[in-house]
Amino acid sequence: MNKAIYPGSFDPITLGHVNIITRALEFFDELVVLLAVNPVKKALFTVEENLEMIQDVTSSWPQVTVDSTQGLLVDYARQYGITKAVRGLRGVTDFDTEFAMALTNRSLWSEFDTVYLVTDAKFMYLHSSVVRQVAALGGDVSGFVSPLVEQRLRVKLGSI
Ligand code: ADP
Repeated sequence: MNKAIYPGSFDPITLGHVNIITRALEFFDELVVLLAVNPVKKALFTVEENLEMIQDVTSSWPQVTVDSTQGLLVDYARQYGITKAVRGLRGVTDFDTEFAMALTNRSLWSEFDTVYLVTDAKFMYLHSSVVRQVAALGGDVSGFVSPLVEQRLRVKLGSI
């Protein structure tokens, strides 16, 4: 089985993430969307809430599974024998950190490779942090996230 992991914070999952998932499925038979919990980043949603939203958005693809880890991506990957990760690139600002991350992961596990998909132009400026900010200020985020995520943002922030 040609399987890959799509790791990220997904706080919350956006249509930019969904675009990467859709396109990754053209290259891989199975995809694990992995919520990699970053203890340094303060998340808006709990891990369970973000997992539930990812599950909802990906429910039409049986080849997609959803999971989370508090540990290193390569440790998770090694545990399940998955040697590839998929990441999205929105521009040169992503490139620097992604390059460092890919090299670090490879130095931790030499069999591990990261595959990059360039964003669809319409999602170039879409970050979860932007969605959180717009939603917090009462802006319309329906063009950025799924209806369930939009509703969860409304409930969480009480402002849109
Ligand atoms: P963010 O919080 O910045 O959205 P994540 O950690 O959730 O970032 O992102 C997980 C992966 O998805 C990263 O590789 C990131 O570059 C990619 N990604 C996030 N948003 C987009 C987008 N709009 N277009 C393409 N890739 C994206």
